[in-house]
Amino acid sequence: MVIYKIMNIKDLYIKAIRLQFLSTDEGLYLYNNSPTSELMFVANEIRKKLNPGNIVGWIIDRNVNISNICSCCCKFCNFYRRKNASDAYITTIEQYKEKINRLYELGGNQLLLQGGLHPELGLKFYMDLFQKLKKEYPSLKLHALSPPEIVHISRMEGKTYRAILLSLIEAGLDSLPGGGAEILSDRVRKIISPRKCTSGEWLEVMRQAHALGIRTSATMMFWHIETKKERLEHLELLRKLQSEKSKNSPGFVAFIPWPFQDKGTILEKKGIKNTITAEEYIRTLAISRIMLPNIKTIQASWLTAGIETAKLCLHSGANDMGSIMIEENVVSSAGVNWKMDKNIITQAITNAGFIPFQRGTVPL
Ligand code: SF4
Repeated sequence: MVIYKIMNIKDLYIKAIRLQFLSTDEGLYLYNNSPTSELMFVANEIRKKLNPGNIVGWIIDRNVNISNICSCCCKFCNFYRRKNASDAYITTIEQYKEKINRLYELGGNQLLLQGGLHPELGLKFYMDLFQKLKKEYPSLKLHALSPPEIVHISRMEGKTYRAILLSLIEAGLDSLPGGGAEILSDRVRKIISPRKCTSGEWLEVMRQAHALGIRTSATMMFWHIETKKERLEHLELLRKLQSEKSKNSPGFVAFIPWPFQDKGTILEKKGIKNTITAEEYIRTLAISRIMLPNIKTIQASWLTAGIETAKLCLHSGANDMGSIMIEENVVSSAGVNWKMDKNIITQAITNAGFIPFQRGTVPL
């Protein structure tokens, strides 16, 4: 029995290192049974094939929130406010300019621009905003909105996702972040974010973005109410969508898994806490690398996992450290307060045995 189990695991390792697709059940078997050192080894072998040369990307960008007004009320979110709240805001052009000038001074040129699902701001608002920013800063890259926001605008306007995306691209959208995926299971979504788009809608927005040839990223927020199998199914859905895109489309250029941040959230009040250990984060990142051989970059979320764990992730399949985040308001409102600057991030990558590479936009 033991011999059969070892053989089976070895077969799965070989299949994974050959960049063949593991089924959800095969991935789950490794996730449940493989020693952490072996998962790390296999994921690292895949990373070396997909990203040879020990180069680890990082970026200076700025996360600016368009507004904190949101009608969605996700149970894991402390960031949103009702429209009439005393601290509700919509960022002004003058505030954008101040933030972008600082970003340029620090050597960055990309804004990660996201907000809540504002009940009144429609397509024209976002188009005007993107056009104004691009006119003022022609070299600025807008990594902006996310599938739930596209679904929301599409419902408000009565237009297709494709039409909304086309208008936004024309106005200056460069790439679409993969926020709002959480876990792509409608069972989970109905509990933690019942008003947010369904998993099918999230995937359809990304399908349309890929058809239009813009770069996107994919995420997974885990360790709340989902099962391990649902995590693996999430990965399989992303892999399947990535397989559908045309060869000329970049599709998902990166995958970023991060653990749920519980502090002060409705979920925490209901007893759902973030109990993840560094080892469990590393195992989840490694199994993501193993399950997603058709997504080139896996990013370690130093912001949520911590710098030392992120360094270990570079030996477990990750080839990107993400952004030094000049400003971050969403996970920091749920208890995360790690700090990073250019020296710390390059030092961390070097100390882990890799070569830091400052990229200008989302991974290529
Ligand atoms: S996670 Fe996003 S969509 Fe959900 S409540 Fe927060 S701001 Fe709104």
